[in-house]
Amino acid sequence: MSPKDLTAIYRLLWKQYGPQHWWPAETPFEVIVGAILTQNTAWKNVETAIQGLKKKRLLSPRKMTEVSSSVLARVIRPAGYFNVKARRLKHFLLFLRQRYKGDLKTLLKRSIGPLREALLSVNGIGPETADSIVLYAAHKPIFVVDAYTRRIFSRLGFLGGEESYGEIQAVFMKALPKQTTLFNEYHALIVAHGKNTCAARHPRCSRCSLERLCEYAEGRRPS
Ligand code: SF4
Repeated sequence: MSPKDLTAIYRLLWKQYGPQHWWPAETPFEVIVGAILTQNTAWKNVETAIQGLKKKRLLSPRKMTEVSSSVLARVIRPAGYFNVKARRLKHFLLFLRQRYKGDLKTLLKRSIGPLREALLSVNGIGPETADSIVLYAAHKPIFVVDAYTRRIFSRLGFLGGEESYGEIQAVFMKALPKQTTLFNEYHALIVAHGKNTCAARHPRCSRCSLERLCEYAEGRRPS
């Protein structure tokens, strides 16, 4: 993918959807909790779980550390896999306490490489979650790759579909200027496109701003 292609796609998506104002959270800790809860579930379920945490006044590192795993699991139940996710939140909180004395600011101040590495050392935090935290909680320029990115760019003909997370990320990072605002908006627009237009089963190609660039759409056009 050339910088020109990626910039053109970004502009077309922006024209179609406008600014996305990501990440929808009030604090960096809320971003982190959301990034862990959103694994394998739709965002609306995460929103309900986060509302529950706010209602019970548990949305701070200190309060969440104090509450038991079973109570935490009950509150985040709407997010699905609630026992696993409660454990993951607890793993993160333990890591924060042991390595950073519970101080989120100190963790998020670290530069991209060490911050990413530290996050990846936490049980239950994989590359997509770690990068979401680096980009949306620490506001540092890293490109987040997800299933929507893979699907859309494979259909466009820019990916083969077998590339690893790191390989896809490297393509975007190499071609685009390393700007937090650009990476923030680009990933959010990809998610908007994957949800609203380039759906897994029935993509709405006729209303897609990328249609004329897309190999998948081209193969479906009547000759
Ligand atoms: S043209 Fe269709 S397949 Fe291609 S990106 Fe748009 S919605 Fe997806």
